[in-house]
Amino acid sequence: MGSQQEIVERLTQWFRRSQRQLPWRLSSDPYPIWISEVMLQQTQVATVIPYFQRFLKAFPTLQKLAQASEESVLTQWAGLGYYSRGRNLRRGAQYLLDHHRGVFPKSREELLKVPGIGPYTAGAILSIAFNLKEPLVDGNVERVLSRLFGFKKPLGTTEAKHFFWDKAHQLVSHAKDPKCFNQGLMELGSTVCTKSNPRCPKCPLQKFCLAYSHDLTHELPVPKKRKTTQFVRLLKLILERNGKIWVRQNSSQEWWAGLWDLPSLQLSPHEEWLPILEKKLNPSSPVFLKELSHQKHTVTHHKLEVIPIHLRVRKNPDFDGKWLELKRFSAMPTSALVKKIMLELN
Ligand code: SF4
Repeated sequence: MGSQQEIVERLTQWFRRSQRQLPWRLSSDPYPIWISEVMLQQTQVATVIPYFQRFLKAFPTLQKLAQASEESVLTQWAGLGYYSRGRNLRRGAQYLLDHHRGVFPKSREELLKVPGIGPYTAGAILSIAFNLKEPLVDGNVERVLSRLFGFKKPLGTTEAKHFFWDKAHQLVSHAKDPKCFNQGLMELGSTVCTKSNPRCPKCPLQKFCLAYSHDLTHELPVPKKRKTTQFVRLLKLILERNGKIWVRQNSSQEWWAGLWDLPSLQLSPHEEWLPILEKKLNPSSPVFLKELSHQKHTVTHHKLEVIPIHLRVRKNPDFDGKWLELKRFSAMPTSALVKKIMLELN
């Protein structure tokens, strides 16, 4: 038996024995599998579970998701981050309804035309829902493959991408049960071959692993060069008039795109906020009410220090937006950061 075939068989058997019971593993229906795979990108399993269950309750079928408003989808998504994922799910559902009568195509080429479905998600749908020999590569798979095959170049390069997709393709082509093999690869990465302290003595692939035999498990994978972190100070303004607050919807170019937000002003590192505020809000003669707790928040490679200020104003402020009752704002899709601020205000 060639070693690739043995790797595939061992991992498949290990997955059948050791897999975690997760709500999206209960059926082979591509719709919940698609939702879970999109939610799991950049988000931990434990965080995803309640979101997945609520989302499926709100939009139990692809048709329901396609017919839902963007706002109602974002409301379900609020707090999960990377909101374009939620918007793309809805657009993807509409595309599938329009072009495939709501049925998932069984070809990679066709799936890649669906908004928001990239090579990883296409591989996940084809292998997990349809048990087809289609590869998938995510961060967990990259880590396992780089250690298993001793790949010593940085992640994120074209060479690295080719290497991982080639290996994933070669391996899955040996699989009798691609559904279990691909999930096994991801499961091994998230539970055994973890980023720090991989549990090699428990690993079904230990005897094949080059990183293990060369004592390189802590050196591999070689991380990609990170963008340097930028620090940003931000004022978030809760501008109130007659029980209403001034709110705006973020454009597609901004952080938290599509979500409802409070107006913001960026400050330089040691800048006092009061003069800035007076200059900006002078015509509306603000009455300062309260400075709320400062919030630390991370968005992509930016670390934010957010200073929420509650003010009463008499005129429309010089920001785009509209007045909205406080109660209604709480029901709108907003970021976790805004939710935290509003919770303290209430
Ligand atoms: Fe990862 Fe260790 Fe298994 Fe190698 S032996 S694949 S490093 S857990």
